[in-house]
Amino acid sequence: MKKTQPVEKNQEYNVTIADLSYQGLGVAKIDNFPIFIENALPGEEIKVQITKVKHSFAFGRVTSFITTSPDRVQLVDKAYTQTGIATLQHLTYSAQLKFKQHQVAVDFQKLGLDDVEVNPTIGMDDPTHYRNKAQVPVRLINGRLETGFYRKHSHDLIPIEDFYIQDQKIDEAILVVRDLLRTFHVAPYNEEHHKGVVRNIMVRRGYYSHEMMIVLVTRAKKIPHTDEIVAGILAKLPEVKSIIQNVNSAKTNALMGPVNNVLAGSNVITDTLLGLKFAISATSFYQINPVQTEKLYQLAIDKADLQKDDVVVDAYCGIGTISLAVAQHVKKVYGVEIVDQAVEDAKHNAKINNIRNVSFVASKAEEQMSKWQSDGLKPDVVFVDPPRKGLDSTLIDSVAAMNPKKVVYVSCNPATLARDVQLFAGKGYHINQPVQPVDQFPQTIHVESVTVLER
Ligand code: SAH
Repeated sequence: MKKTQPVEKNQEYNVTIADLSYQGLGVAKIDNFPIFIENALPGEEIKVQITKVKHSFAFGRVTSFITTSPDRVQLVDKAYTQTGIATLQHLTYSAQLKFKQHQVAVDFQKLGLDDVEVNPTIGMDDPTHYRNKAQVPVRLINGRLETGFYRKHSHDLIPIEDFYIQDQKIDEAILVVRDLLRTFHVAPYNEEHHKGVVRNIMVRRGYYSHEMMIVLVTRAKKIPHTDEIVAGILAKLPEVKSIIQNVNSAKTNALMGPVNNVLAGSNVITDTLLGLKFAISATSFYQINPVQTEKLYQLAIDKADLQKDDVVVDAYCGIGTISLAVAQHVKKVYGVEIVDQAVEDAKHNAKINNIRNVSFVASKAEEQMSKWQSDGLKPDVVFVDPPRKGLDSTLIDSVAAMNPKKVVYVSCNPATLARDVQLFAGKGYHINQPVQPVDQFPQTIHVESVTVLER
């Protein structure tokens, strides 16, 4: 028999919000049928209008608040919610930190791992303007070149000048570049017809160094008036040490293409992290919240309880940040990373810090781990810091076979963390201390954490 949904599109209902979903949406239930509602917090009584009905859930929008939560703060700008730049902007920061702690616990509970303890999330003093990197699309809106961010689940650009969570010097730089592109009539990218020149602007700024890199991601090989635009950037933004054109001519959602042309200055900028110097290329991964990254790495290092004779593996090592921070405490570090350019950066970074007991390989972590295992490598500690999809199960097999004392897992996705912890448990590795969330992404739903697994 076909189930009929208890709500109807466009109808209004009175509901009480019961929960906050992992996407930061308020969840209300009518006859056990969940309705997901933006900008609604647990405990709030609201009037909701149903906007979409699916087979087993619906979406709605708040039409009025009957009561509001003590955890609510006023929206700074509704565009931050519409774009997802700051999905949790309506929640006090202390409640955001609790939400993230809870989120990690829930992901373990879903797998029946109820005994895993999760510590309170380590937050930051000023949870705004923390991002050291921006990637903004460039589009034509009402006949004018605009920069901003996409409306959630779409490619409609909402023009934004103050991005709230980015270094304000970066916001400023984006406007300088935007205005120069307008002045010289450079055509913004048109996704539908795959026409136009500039697709995106990427800006990175060193938190300590204040060195800035500007990347113009273009569909076309040639940018008209390149010399004038470059001169304009250098004149207006004295912190800029590198201007790069990244050519991405494919019809793709991938932000960057394979080719980088240096238009001015260096191909890297440098910054420091835990007192070490790092050169960062345009296409290399670099943590976006430097204040919290230092706390995160220090925690990971402390929890690893490193000994001076230890051999360490740093899987998913990026430009070698964890590897180099660990190297001074141990005998030898082996890093592996899939992006060639990042591995080049890592090798260079070892040199500029006079660190010699590290070796970096460009490869898939899962393949390299299996190779190290068959070569007889016996690490004492393995650090893993994978992307959101988590670890390949074959990597877990190889790590367990190498029998390290500890695996320190830095995770940006608690769902895949919990899955991988369960796989490690099957290999005899267990959690003996609480999982520690560290807030790398205030105002957003993203959750970072450190977990230690021991034999
Ligand atoms: N530990 C580093 C990077 C962490 S981000 C830091 O904190 O800065 C994850 C890294 O994993 C990225 O650099 C990404 O390029 C890399 N990566 C993604 N898939 C990979 C794979 N299968 N094997 C190795 N590295 C991978």
